[in-house]
Parts: sequence; C-alpha cells; structure tokens
Amino acid sequence: MSGSRRRRAPPPEPEYRPGQLLNWNNSAHWDYEQARPCRYCGLDTHLRDSKKAPAHKTCAEAALAQQAAEAADAYQNGHTT
Ligand SMILES: [Zn+2]
Repeated sequence: MSGSRRRRAPPPEPEYRPGQLLNWNNSAHWDYEQARPCRYCGLDTHLRDSKKAPAHKTCAEAALAQQAAEAADAYQNGHTT
C-alpha cells in the first residue's frame, strides 16, 4: 500500500443560490467582541455577514431573496444590465 492521500483543504463557503439558507456556522460570522446594529433592521446583533457588516442571518436571507426576485423580474422583462 503506497497510495498517499492528498489532504484536502476545507471546502470554501458555497456560493449563495436563491432559496437556499445561508450557512453561518463558521465562527467568522460571529463577533465575540460586541453586538452592533444590524444593517437591515437596526437591532443589535453579534452576527456578521460575508462582508463583515453586522446583520442578522434572517435579515440577510430576506435581502438576498429580494435581490434574487428583483433580478428574476428584470430578466423576465428583458432589462438585464
Ligand atoms: Zn436584522
């Protein structure tokens, strides 16, 4: 037996797809230092989005769903930019 197995790097965070829930289990999404106002609803949260901005997971998911819906609308109306 001489097969050497390559150690795989941990998989990157999967790209968000509409309808999919975000996976914020990674500690990068949790700020232990302090709670800050959510960028969407303004209530304090320890959670951070992928750009390190304070945001609740549910708020970010709602915003992403809306963006996806708007993009789909624009696509259907032929207004792709
Ligand atoms: Zn919020």
